[in-house]
Amino acid sequence: MKSKAAIAFEMGAPLRIEEIDVAPPQAGEVLIEVKAAGLCHSDLHAIDGHWNFNSGFPGLMGHEGAGVVVEVGPGVTRVKLGDHVVPFIPECGVCACCRSGKTNNCEASFIDSGPTSRFSLGGRSIHPFLGLGLFSQFAVVREFTLVPVRRDAPFDRLFYFGCGATTGLSSALFKAEVQPGSSVIVFGLGGIGLNVVQGARFAGAKTIIAVDINPAREAIARQMGATDFVNPRTVDGDLVGHLNAMTGGGADYTFEAIGNVELMRQAFDTAHFAYGTCTIIGIAPDADLLALPPTALITGRRLQGAAMGGARGLEHIPQLVDLMMDGKLDIDSLITAHLPVEEINEGYAMQKRGEGIRSYVTF
Ligand SMILES: [Zn+2]
Ligand SMILES: [Zn+2]
Repeated sequence: MKSKAAIAFEMGAPLRIEEIDVAPPQAGEVLIEVKAAGLCHSDLHAIDGHWNFNSGFPGLMGHEGAGVVVEVGPGVTRVKLGDHVVPFIPECGVCACCRSGKTNNCEASFIDSGPTSRFSLGGRSIHPFLGLGLFSQFAVVREFTLVPVRRDAPFDRLFYFGCGATTGLSSALFKAEVQPGSSVIVFGLGGIGLNVVQGARFAGAKTIIAVDINPAREAIARQMGATDFVNPRTVDGDLVGHLNAMTGGGADYTFEAIGNVELMRQAFDTAHFAYGTCTIIGIAPDADLLALPPTALITGRRLQGAAMGGARGLEHIPQLVDLMMDGKLDIDSLITAHLPVEEINEGYAMQKRGEGIRSYVTF
């Protein structure tokens, strides 16, 4: 079938709208109609070549979305026609990682989906980013990437649970397990960091310090639950010393939600030396290294990382969607622009300019 899609033909170039061919789903695969797709920064990392996602160009980005099942391949059991679904990272359920119950990594995540792409243009294969490729009105994905969700949740909110909202909220709630009455510092207030703030507030944190160089982020951070806002550019002297003074010697939980190793080090250094936990969420360029004095770990401080906030999609996404539908999470305020897919490059330009929080496209 034909499908309207935004294609990345080469590194760093604007996406181009094309009518591509989508082949029918094979065994274990599902054809979905994408009803809304979010513009997450990780797509940009891949387009700009900072993240070697090994499937190459031409590429079909888009990994944050929601849609409806329109056709299932042979043997599919997880979803059926008409189901509303949020694609997420693979969860095959049978590999050692999945069976451990300790991780959201799945051995199927590391399969290069390029050679088995169902997307093509003029006979040339197009590689879906992260095995998804949601910047296409119709997409064939593997069954075990799909999380079925309740049908009364609107697609123009649901898409955000395919990455940003889930990553931020899960980092606080399920990975760091922020405790009531605790202190939290969040570095980077993009579409993920603001959800860490919101997750920490929902968990009952007493002090939530939001850190960003963009002063326009203060109001929304406070709306999400931040008790304090710190702009590193207006701090006299040492940021780490300033934050440690604010928390009385270090926070219970710190988070880095940008992907910058300098900020990661600051997040580590502002976690309490004896019992603080620093959680790395942002994806740094492949070549970067994070340098730490090992004695800073020996004292008891913990450092951990979480892909997609450590969320296990089947278990956690429906819970988070319920919290939104119950009015306990504010997702509306974080979704700041809706664009037709033809304007997707403008959406990314807005993101690079720091305007708005999360935008999404429809087809
Ligand atoms: Zn993302
Ligand atoms: Zn698995």
